[in-house]
Amino acid sequence: MTSIFPARRAPDNLPRPVHWATAAVCRDDENHPDVWFPVPTDLVAVEYAKGLCRRCPVQMRCRTDALNRGEEHGVWGGLDEGELRDVRKVRRAAAAKQAAREKQAAQDQQDAGELAKAG
Ligand code: SF4
Repeated sequence: MTSIFPARRAPDNLPRPVHWATAAVCRDDENHPDVWFPVPTDLVAVEYAKGLCRRCPVQMRCRTDALNRGEEHGVWGGLDEGELRDVRKVRRAAAAKQAAREKQAAQDQQDAGELAKAG
């Protein structure tokens, strides 16, 4: 059955952005995917994965994405599980501090408004 509406697809010849992950070192066939998921207590394996990440051209982009996704396992962007956890902890603390500052600023503004009305 044909639709009365026109097909709403973009033409296939439009340029598409290349995803950053296409430049990732971990896409090389040389390294088995397990390399990036070492047992956390196997420090040699963890350091090996981090060393590969250090020569990856998209390391920072990968790290940011992993932190934003909340990756809990593996080595991402040159950080191991503990380091990713630490950065997330710092980020949460900074967000909480910022929220407290904003709440205080709103309260101060409200207080100033009430003082102006009363005065
Ligand atoms: S930095 Fe990220 S994308 Fe690059 S090799 Fe490491 S895990 Fe892969």
